[in-house]
Parts: sequence; C-alpha cells; structure tokens
Amino acid sequence: MEIETAQLFIGGEWTDASGGDYFDVVNPATERVIARVPDAGPDEMRRAIDAALAVQPHWAESTAAERAGILSKAARMMREQADDLARIMTEEEGKPFSESLGEISYAASFLEWFAEESKRIYGETIPANSSNKRILVIKRPVGLSLAITPWNFPAAMITRKVGPALAAGCPMIVKPSELTPLSALEIARIFEEAGLPKGVLSIVTGTRPGPLVAAAMEEFRVRKISFTGSTAVGKLLMKQAADSVKRVSFELGGQAPFIVFADADLDAAVENAVIAKMRSVGESCVAANRMYVQRPIVEAFTAKLSTALAAMKMGNGLEDGVSVGPLIEPRAVDKVERHVADARQKGATVILGGSKGTGAGYFYPPTILANVDDSMLIAQEETFGPVAAIMAFDTEEEVIARANNTHAGLAAYFFTRDIGRVMRLAERLEYGILGANDGLPSTAQAPFGGLKESGLGREGSHYGIDEYLDIKYVSLGGINT
Ligand code: NAD
Repeated sequence: MEIETAQLFIGGEWTDASGGDYFDVVNPATERVIARVPDAGPDEMRRAIDAALAVQPHWAESTAAERAGILSKAARMMREQADDLARIMTEEEGKPFSESLGEISYAASFLEWFAEESKRIYGETIPANSSNKRILVIKRPVGLSLAITPWNFPAAMITRKVGPALAAGCPMIVKPSELTPLSALEIARIFEEAGLPKGVLSIVTGTRPGPLVAAAMEEFRVRKISFTGSTAVGKLLMKQAADSVKRVSFELGGQAPFIVFADADLDAAVENAVIAKMRSVGESCVAANRMYVQRPIVEAFTAKLSTALAAMKMGNGLEDGVSVGPLIEPRAVDKVERHVADARQKGATVILGGSKGTGAGYFYPPTILANVDDSMLIAQEETFGPVAAIMAFDTEEEVIARANNTHAGLAAYFFTRDIGRVMRLAERLEYGILGANDGLPSTAQAPFGGLKESGLGREGSHYGIDEYLDIKYVSLGGINT
C-alpha cells in the first residue's frame, strides 16, 4: 500500500515543517502506517499566527452573510464527501465506518448551526439613568483563537470550535491530536475549496504538543483558547492562559453515571446503555462509566445487556457488520486491562469478555463486570474502553450521593418513569448534560459542556458563539444637547 505524505495548512498554503520532519499515522485496527504528516514546531505555529493576524481585520469586518455562506458550503461539501471522510476517520481512529459516517454528519451540523447563528449576533439597548444618554451593547469577535482537539472525535471536536469561531469573525488555528491529524487536514481542504480567505484557518500538526502550543500561549494576540481533552492538560493550559488573561473554553474528562431505577422501561434502558457505553468503543468523554442499577432489577438488566453486547461484532471498522472497533493505541488497552484486573482483584465478577484479543490491532472486547463497588479504580477514573461496570444501589438519595462523588461533572444518564424523580435528579445531579431516558443527548443545538473539573464554557447551541464574542457597551451622551 502506498503511504500518503500529507502537508500542513498554514496561512492558506500547503506546506512542510521547516525542519523537514514527519511522523507516522497508524491504523489501530491493523497497526499499519497509513500516512506521514509533518511534525511541526513553534516556527510553524508562529507562521500560522502571523497569517491569522494579517487577515483578522478583514475577517472581523466581513458580513454575517459572507461567513454563513462559507460555513454552509463547507458543511454541504462535508456531507457530499461523507463516504471518503468517514473512511479516512475509520482508518486513523478505528471507529466503525457507520459511526464515522454519523460523526461526519454531526460535524457538518455544527457548521450548519453556526452559519445560521452568525446572523444572530444581536446587540441590545439598555435604558440609561439620564435622558441625555443612551446605552448600547455591541458584540465583537474576541480575536485570534486557538483550538486544541483530541483524537476520539477527529472531525466533530474541530467543527464544534471552528464553526462558532469563524461565525463570530475570529480566525482560528487548530492543533489536532497527533493520533488523528488526517481528518483535520481534510477539514482544511474543504474550507479552502469553500472559499475561506487565506489565513482564517490553519492546521498545525505535531508530536510535541507542549512546545507547539506554548508558542501560541506565549503570544498575547492569541486571545482565546478552546481545548477538548484530558483534565490534566486542561489544568496546565489554564495556568498558561493566565499569563495573558486569554479567554478559555474547556471540554475535559467525564466520569458519567448511568442510573437505572426499577420503574424504568428496562428494554429502553438496555438499548440506551449500549449506545452510551459502546459508541466509539467507550472512548468518549460522555461514555457511561459507572452503571448504577437499582437492586431488584440488577440481574435482569445485566442479562439483557450481556445478550446485547455479546451480539456485537468486533473487528476492522471498514468490514461489514462491525460495530466494535479497536482502541486508539496500546496504552489505551493497558488502561482497560488495569481497570478490569483491579476490579477482579477487589471482588468484581466478569460476566462477559474480560481479556484482550490476540493478533493485530488494539482490540478489547465488550466486557461486563458485576458486583463493582465505588472503591475500584473503574468507579473512580475514566476507563475509556468497552467495559460496563455494574453496581447495585437501593435508594434515590444514595445513588445521587454516589453519582456526585467525583470531581468530574460532564454527562449523567438516568432511566425512570417517575416524572417527579426526573426533575429531582436533573436538579441535584452535578452534571452539565443530563440524559433523562436518553443515552445520546449530544446535538448541535444543545449547550454541551461540563461542571466542576469537566470544563468551562459551552459548545453548540446559541450559547456556543458567545465564547468567541466580547461584549462592549457604548455610553452615548449628548442626546438632547
Ligand atoms: P489529551 O489531553 O492527551 O490530548 C488532547 C489534545 O491536547 C491533543 O491535541 C494533544 O496533542 C494536546 N496536548 C497534550 N499534551 C499537551 C500539552 N502539554 N500542551 C498542550 N497540548 C497538549 O487527551 P486525549 O487523550 O487526546 O483525549 C481524551 C480525553 O479528552 C479524555 O479525557 C476525554 O474525556 C476528553 N474529551 C473530552 C470531551 C468533552 O467534550 N468534554 C470530548 C472528547 C474528549
């Protein structure tokens, strides 16, 4: 197989890294190298910054209709080219082709949504205290923005940032994960073909994210960063952002509880558990990590979930019928193994799966652990793998306390037919995203984001564009004089 050599997209030009270095992109299902990508450093980041700053005034003064036109065109192209984009995503990330197609559609939906939101950057007038004055509130683009994105959703995590940034009139530099740079570069190609002015979007890929990102963090004129990734790196970036008081948005790690009450529709709960647990093989920030099931239905729930997960086919995501792909890298398999071993050693029972595959690829099969308790690693850390950890609970009060007993606060799911309980849980669970009888709450029109150490700010929805806008006011005097 011929190995493609990619280029960086800086200031509207396709270019190599100045040092001439490249890194390999590996297909996690086959362990084969599928492409070589330039290994950029601070020099390339500075070039991207200069290009963005040069075009920034022009982009900030463009009309909403112009920006919406480009965003809509890019979304349309993504949809037209969905098969090709999804194949690239499956090859570099591993997720099954049907899931990649779903992600391309989800990614395009953010561009469509923010194309429309660009037209609704409204101001306000506020009654003044003096009849001689008027107060006008206006919104302006925050300026050059930097996006740092993870590998688990290689397209959607980019468009969820690029969409609102461009719609607001901000240029953006994207530093994608070094594990999935190809989808990012495809998005750049689409924007280039959609007519985006040079410099408004740059993609800088590299294996040394520390120095690469630091070059932008040190630059005062980068006014905003939007990061999706681990909580540890988020904390580091927050400290770096303090030096020049940059605006920050963070989408960090989750630790989602999935709570099933005895009065729930059991089949619906199981169906949604499969989605919340197995989408992206569990490598999702909103993946159900802790499954709390009310004691009377633990056995029935476990049996039904076991039947559903046992029927899933594991393999290369490009093969027909595969619904469980590989994990992203050997380290990810090691973490799942560590969590399963720790749980077993502390008394959990393996109901399904429980040991990694042999042969090529970073595979770990769908696994169910019963008799899990809160002392086990799997109940305390994000597993990021296809392991359903089932824990029994007795009362609503108890499960709320256990679910909230974490520094994370991204997504929580609960299943019940009691409408009063739905509202009690919605108000008391300390999470930004609440799936009430819903295992797939993410959508472009809703404000995605976490509480506590899971993040700051919201992406998607009409709130999402505010992250890229500054509020100013004009106190206009001399009205009657
Ligand atoms: P990661 O933090 O290791 O990497 C994320 C990005 O940060 C990558 O582009 C990486 O190159 C970069 N990075 C790494 N070290 C850096 C440093 N020192 N300075 C600057 N940048 C650095 O996370 P990951 O393994 O790619 O992604 C998985 C994590 O992302 C999980 O914790 C998951 O929960 C989280 N996530 C959160 C959301 C959300 O919306 N809340 C969505 C997807 C993933």
